[in-house]
Amino acid sequence: MPNSNWFKGNLHTHTTESDGDETPEHVAEWYREHGYDFLVLSDHNHLTVLDDAGSNPGKWPLLIPGEEITSRLFNNTVPVHVNGIGLKSLVEPATEESARETLQENVSRIVAAGGLASINHPNFKWIISAEDIAATEGTWAMEVYNGHPITNSFGGGGHLSAEAIWDLVLSSGRRVLGVATDDAHHYVAEFSPLLANPGRGWVVVKAEKMSEDALMAGMRRGEFYASSGVAILDMKVARDEIVIEMAPYDTEEFTTIFRGKDGRELATVEGQEVRFVPPKAEMYVRATVYSSRGSRAWSQPVFSS
Ligand SMILES: [Zn+2]
Ligand SMILES: [Zn+2]
Repeated sequence: MPNSNWFKGNLHTHTTESDGDETPEHVAEWYREHGYDFLVLSDHNHLTVLDDAGSNPGKWPLLIPGEEITSRLFNNTVPVHVNGIGLKSLVEPATEESARETLQENVSRIVAAGGLASINHPNFKWIISAEDIAATEGTWAMEVYNGHPITNSFGGGGHLSAEAIWDLVLSSGRRVLGVATDDAHHYVAEFSPLLANPGRGWVVVKAEKMSEDALMAGMRRGEFYASSGVAILDMKVARDEIVIEMAPYDTEEFTTIFRGKDGRELATVEGQEVRFVPPKAEMYVRATVYSSRGSRAWSQPVFSS
């Protein structure tokens, strides 16, 4: 990254502390070797903290404590998974009467433990609706892209994509941000589209420096973008202007769609550097970059007031 205050991280990763197939140490090494600045080890209902995390800056990315709060309602036919990022203590999963009530309780517990609550893979088993997320208070973000092969990020068969769900949540007035993650479980066997391998979805956060506090503050403020493969040199998302500058890989080309309330297309712009002035009356405006390679990037929304 030419701009030194953008930091790449993955917010959703499993290890042998839950159902991942590599140890936390080796998972952290994988991410360091692949250019990640920070990482959240988010095991199911387990706060994976490496004792000497701070003393291995060359070996591991900066490790922000996290956990996938995992409620398995009705014999696990209704999975409700919420990531807690930057937790100060372990959060126990809630079991309420419905997915929606469980979602709210897990989010509230994460917030009480000092974390940012991110609602994971809403389309996993098609359980979490836009209405469920819109009804939940205290949510920081939701996954608009999850790299696990069974989480149905793009919708289909009459179901909305996670991104379209996000637009409905935003249009309801909830200021929920969008993240892309790996949800990686599999490191050992040869990588395959049928496995949950690392390196598929990430966020890049603008922060004053590489520290947990600065990264958490940048994420809390929404100063980041999400990507499933598009590399971005610089991005400005402000009320007066949105500017995105992409870094093409070989002959990669880009189309950027700017969307407003209810996901309505406001503009479609081609090229490597795009600009758009958000209409003053629009409730929110956000951008999705579509790459000729099939990957995408998502800006955070900018709100009208
Ligand atoms: Zn999950
Ligand atoms: Zn997971």
